[in-house]
Amino acid sequence: MGESTSYAVGIDLGATNLRVVLADKNGKFKIKLSEPTVKTGTSESLISQIIELIERSIRQANIKTEEIIGIGIGSIGPLDMKRGWLLNPPNIPFRDVPIVPRLEEHFGVPATLLNDCTTAVIGEKYFGAGKEHDNLVYITISTGIGGGAYVDGHLLLGKDGNAVEVGHTVVDAEGRLICGCGKKGHWEAYCSGTGIPKLARLILEKKGIKGPEETLILKMAKGDPSKITAKIVFEAAKKRDKLALEIVDLIGRYNAAGIANVIDAYDPSLITIGGSVALYNEELILNPIRRYVIEYAINRIPEIIITPLREDVVLYGAVALALGLERIFM
Ligand SMILES: [Zn+2]
Repeated sequence: MGESTSYAVGIDLGATNLRVVLADKNGKFKIKLSEPTVKTGTSESLISQIIELIERSIRQANIKTEEIIGIGIGSIGPLDMKRGWLLNPPNIPFRDVPIVPRLEEHFGVPATLLNDCTTAVIGEKYFGAGKEHDNLVYITISTGIGGGAYVDGHLLLGKDGNAVEVGHTVVDAEGRLICGCGKKGHWEAYCSGTGIPKLARLILEKKGIKGPEETLILKMAKGDPSKITAKIVFEAAKKRDKLALEIVDLIGRYNAAGIANVIDAYDPSLITIGGSVALYNEELILNPIRRYVIEYAINRIPEIIITPLREDVVLYGAVALALGLERIFM
């Protein structure tokens, strides 16, 4: 009788999917919904989609809107963190989307918008492997590479919320590959879902390999180098294709260099790794990192693991924000 309940709304706004959870005060998910992020219309279309998905989750959970106490959003960037606006994301055709003001106006509760990797490290800190750690870094290896960090118990934000853009640190000063951002030699250009095919083509070219009979990678790509994907490289490696194993080892070296930069910059006691490339290829990603990182880092090597929160790590962070567990002062 009269038991008061309250729920947090957590949102993971990605270029591909929009995901929403309702969670209780302990962070336990009550309902989780997902749909493809809208790609047409105006910025209002995106705001409407977010509002409708939240309202649908409230209906399906059979709770009252008044029971919602806050909204947390982990989003692709770039963001205006202080105003809570999404600015001009590269893979969605909207710009200047006032997400926080519109959600606060509609639901009458506080909302917080942070970059998705920063949100993810908050999830790790409050609900994942980072509970006992004051120095913690989360890295995503997905379409791109990004990170979030706590140093001395403080969440790193930076002037615009981009304090841990580690995917754009340089791992190859010769700059043989150009990053999606336009600059040379970035970690993301070699080891992300979009970078790995470019690295594979570079190696094929260097070795003069042209025929599908020479490597399973080309066979799986129907002989067309432009059809190589990160998935093909890892599948071929799992079937012990010699060239694929060599490329996976090289990816591991670049990952180790990137992780070493992270270790030397932030001195964490734990690094957790998520993102689809890592989650689908745990051993092939982790083992070379653990093998080579000592060659690049001077600081003491921390524990390096796959995030136990898996693909929900951003949602957990968004819930932590909605619950006010991590106070963001801007
Ligand atoms: Zn870059």
